[in-house]
Amino acid sequence: SLLSEPTAALMARRVATIGPHSPLFYNTPLELVRGEGAWLTDAQGRTYLDGYNNVPHVGHANPVVADAVNRQLRTINLHTRYLNHMVVDYAEALLDTFNGELDRLFLVNSGSEANELALRIARQHTGNRGILVSDFSYHGNTSSLAELTTGLEVHEEFGSHVRAVRIPDATGMDAQSAMALRDRALAEVDAAIASLQEAGHGISASLLDPIFSTEGLLNVPSGYIEGLAQRVQAAGGLFIADEVQSGFGRLGNHMWGHQLYAIKPDLVTLGKPMGNGHPIGAVITTEALLDEFGGRNMYFNTFAGSPVSSAAGLAVLGEMRERQLMTHARATGEFIADAMREIAKSSPLIGAVRGQGLFFGYDIVRPEAPGQPHPVAAKQLIELMKDKGVLISRIGRDDNVLKMRPPMVIEREQAQLLVDRLAESVAEITSGLS
Ligand code: PMP
Repeated sequence: SLLSEPTAALMARRVATIGPHSPLFYNTPLELVRGEGAWLTDAQGRTYLDGYNNVPHVGHANPVVADAVNRQLRTINLHTRYLNHMVVDYAEALLDTFNGELDRLFLVNSGSEANELALRIARQHTGNRGILVSDFSYHGNTSSLAELTTGLEVHEEFGSHVRAVRIPDATGMDAQSAMALRDRALAEVDAAIASLQEAGHGISASLLDPIFSTEGLLNVPSGYIEGLAQRVQAAGGLFIADEVQSGFGRLGNHMWGHQLYAIKPDLVTLGKPMGNGHPIGAVITTEALLDEFGGRNMYFNTFAGSPVSSAAGLAVLGEMRERQLMTHARATGEFIADAMREIAKSSPLIGAVRGQGLFFGYDIVRPEAPGQPHPVAAKQLIELMKDKGVLISRIGRDDNVLKMRPPMVIEREQAQLLVDRLAESVAEITSGLS
């Protein structure tokens, strides 16, 4: 479909200012003008179901968040060198959702800032520079994060102090093969740590997304994450859980992704859904690590932890509690996953069904060569879903895993719409193949 004239004009102005490099979804870009809950409306007045965005966690244009931000902006907004109760109220409410020793935090403005600060804390604590990451991952846009990016094209030299390991995916394996895969993958972790030590870097931290979203929502064999954390921490390094995508109850069964495993992260980094679109992030850590870093460094961040950011964050937590969104994510997530498993049975295009809570993936594979990724069909499905009024996207090293991650407030009827459109799209693309 062609761009309407006003949308084409907007596109031209965008290219003339922001440039042509900033990515846009879809063959024909969508101009979105309004949102409500899980609905979005484009410039032509057409509505779409948002099956993709996790930032509007408690819904697009959520009035409770909007009112809280508005009220605070009209009262006072400050940086953190003055006392204000909003900030402390939010810090307490957020820390209440963590267990054990994770009872201190730094507030920042984005996921990138959170990971950047976590790496700095780890480097100072250990006196080491080495970092362990997944070999297909993204953690942010700063210089030191670009040096460890493996999952997207960045023109920054890959750090000589970084080792990237393949995260094992045991999808479809029996228990015995999964354990063998785990052991091979943990041997790779041992080798990476040894290599950092031999190179004189030592290990300061591992930085991993607990559900491996960029990688395509991996099903890691049981014991792998525990084994990795044990190895990193035994070598003196810190375990950083990047919960920018996995956090805030999205997985349905846990508030935080690292709680899927029997591990104790030293640092947990947060962003995206935290302020429902208002920029806010955090590093959650222990008293010992906070005191060590804070005692040595003057850490100041003008916008971070402002009363307005805190009001947004508090409103998100309040909405989650009032509307029981984590429980809702589990129930609605199970409904969608069940339907997705049924649809998968109907088409040789679909391999594994991945994910949990309200975060799903579908492996799109070659019917004639099961297991082989089919990124072209994945792209066709995404475009067809858009034509049918549902927004989704894709992830994974082969760009063939459909990514579905709706706002947490998606209603049952909307979930039904999502799976109906998915079933139709899969059927159409499947029949087009033969
Ligand atoms: N970590 C993960 C896992 C992410 O997905 C992202 C953003 N895609 C980031 C960090 C960076 O967050 P931000 O864009 O807020 O800087």
